[in-house]
Amino acid sequence: MQKQGKKNPKTCEQCTKKTSVTLPYGPHYFCEKHFTKFFENRFKKTIRKYNLFKPKEKLLIALSGGKDSCVLLYLITKYYSKSNSIQALIIDEGVKGYREKAINVAKELCSKLNVNYLVVKFKKEFGLTNDKLMPLVLSNPTLGGTCAFCGTMRRNLMNKYAKKLRADKLLTGHNLDDEVQSFVMNVFNNDFKRLKRMNATSGIIDYEGFVKRIKPLYETPEKEIITYAAINEIKHYSQECCPYSWTAKRNEYREMLNTFENRFPGTEYSILRFFENLKPYLKSNKNSENKIIHSLHECKNCKEPTEKDYCKTCEMIQRIKKEEMKTKNKKEEKDLTHLNKYNKKLTCKTTKN
Ligand code: SF4
Ligand SMILES: [Zn+2]
Ligand SMILES: [Zn+2]
Repeated sequence: MQKQGKKNPKTCEQCTKKTSVTLPYGPHYFCEKHFTKFFENRFKKTIRKYNLFKPKEKLLIALSGGKDSCVLLYLITKYYSKSNSIQALIIDEGVKGYREKAINVAKELCSKLNVNYLVVKFKKEFGLTNDKLMPLVLSNPTLGGTCAFCGTMRRNLMNKYAKKLRADKLLTGHNLDDEVQSFVMNVFNNDFKRLKRMNATSGIIDYEGFVKRIKPLYETPEKEIITYAAINEIKHYSQECCPYSWTAKRNEYREMLNTFENRFPGTEYSILRFFENLKPYLKSNKNSENKIIHSLHECKNCKEPTEKDYCKTCEMIQRIKKEEMKTKNKKEEKDLTHLNKYNKKLTCKTTKN
């Protein structure tokens, strides 16, 4: 093993092999084998550090077929299949030409790793697909962003099915980049409530109606997930992005933070550490937490926890259905006007003849 502090970019810092992976923030120079070791150790350390789950707990992994959730499933089965029971939840939002392909990759991975999975569809659960929903959201900015809509609906299903499948923890593939983007977005939007909720475990308060969401890739940079998947031949869907992703505000933050990370390696870790240092000052007091817990009850429609009569998902769906009705009525009015004009013309013509 080479001595720390005397790093030679041409050879791995752990052995004499040629460097295959360079991590500029260290800097670190690794051969494929030692990069894999470094990556996996950090993953296991994150689970220990944030006490994400315990042996014997049932783990439900939200699997999209993309790189993050596929790598997550691979690592969880590699290290925890003996100590924990593992299942995957695949959500089909209904995006023609994109989702089916990613879902097929997700299913293939589950079969390869011998993991049971369940596919849940927006269409069956909400009577809507993203393809139907998004044109309405895009044409009406007051409804919010496409991904905000989709994300809220997905979280509703994740929680609902985590309870149905009796999972102790729900695992998502959020990585370091996602977390840092969310942090900066919350600062830019002055969204203190959301900022306080951020964590490697979901910030949702302890309430029996919520299954804890955990993020074992919380400290793992996105680029390294891609490299790890390539080295370890973990098949994932990467050919196309969701056709509605271009509208997400998050893209701007991603671009900005990538520019900083490329120019000043380590920026993303600095932001995460800053946030970690800030956390003790952000903790909500027990009284306000208890207040929220006492105001929580079941949504009148879907039975998910909410502080109001209806949960956010059901409220959103009601709004979108109203919008759909309005558009339909407008179209019918327009068709009727056309028809009247046509009839008038026809009558005039007929009379003339
Ligand atoms: S990119 Fe946005 S709209 Fe597409 S699946 Fe993801 S959250 Fe939903
Ligand atoms: Zn090496
Ligand atoms: Zn509801």
